[in-house]
Amino acid sequence: MIIVLKKDITQQQLQKVLAMVQEFGFQAHIIKGSERTVIGAVGSGRGKEKLQAMENMPGVENVMPILQPFKLASLEVKQEKTVITLRNGATVGGDSLAVIAGPCAVESREQVIETARAVKAAGATMLRGGAFKPRTSPYSFQGMEEEGLVLLSSARDETGLPIVTEVMNPSDIERICAYADILQVGARNVQNFALLKELGKINTPVILKRGMMTTIEEFLMSAEYILAGGNSKVILCERGIRTFETATRNTLDLSSVPLLRQRTHLPVVVDPSHGTGHWKLVAPMCYAAVAAGADGLMVEVHPNPEQAVCDGVQSLTPEKFAAMMKKLACFAAAADRKLDNPAAFTRAA
Ligand code: PEP
Ligand code: MN
Repeated sequence: MIIVLKKDITQQQLQKVLAMVQEFGFQAHIIKGSERTVIGAVGSGRGKEKLQAMENMPGVENVMPILQPFKLASLEVKQEKTVITLRNGATVGGDSLAVIAGPCAVESREQVIETARAVKAAGATMLRGGAFKPRTSPYSFQGMEEEGLVLLSSARDETGLPIVTEVMNPSDIERICAYADILQVGARNVQNFALLKELGKINTPVILKRGMMTTIEEFLMSAEYILAGGNSKVILCERGIRTFETATRNTLDLSSVPLLRQRTHLPVVVDPSHGTGHWKLVAPMCYAAVAAGADGLMVEVHPNPEQAVCDGVQSLTPEKFAAMMKKLACFAAAADRKLDNPAAFTRAA
């Protein structure tokens, strides 16, 4: 249920409302908008009629049901788009496009620093790189783990770019948070509910990738797990779904971008690298994603794609990435988006 608060509600009245929501067996999430503040009362409590009756309480404007199954992610609860601000002031979901670029996996100091410098010079706003890699085969390279995190943070120190890296295991969250600015949940873990629950308890933003078999509703329900836990900084990432088509690695479902926009206030970014699996298709799909209304892009870039330990075929060289960024400017302008580098990164102590 949504409890819309009166503008002049007193602190005391608010405390009473919050206590009552809890007493009826619901969790209370305060959502502040520029127009109104509401309480999202969510949970499996059976006192729905009791919540409805709270309309008569001082400080309460009205009480309405939330019709969508994903409650806190829905536009019913919050009409304004969520803008996530990183520690260096870069944003995701605002006027500027977020461009997250870097290798599939961190492989060496030279590789990650060289890529970070190149993507920054081309206008990327964040650096990506996997230190813990979800691989289909247990015999494939599994990532440099903590050493990879250290290399990513050196690249951040060097370039000022915030870093995005994947978490697969709930027990790794704490140590990855010590380095990363954004945690990525990969397609294979989109319904790892134990992981999502733990990510709800932290304050670090999370990029949640759509699974290859995930419907839009299931995707939003996964985001809801993180929001319900108390972490409101969730970014959705469309990265393609599995269809009968084998000419591409996945089928990049760009219709999900405007569709998600109609269902949720959360930012949506698009990953055309995994979405297509071929570097030649990446730039066109970057342009298309921005035209479709994406808040950002995630693109794999490697200094020597032919030598990459993973996903070389879909990785752009730094030169190709720079050329894509140049052309992207026209599409960004047409979509009313700015392209910019964030201010110099200074990490909060
Ligand atoms: C990745 O970003 O390198 C990755 C493994 O992506 P996905 O989870 O979308 O397959
Ligand atoms: Mn990859």
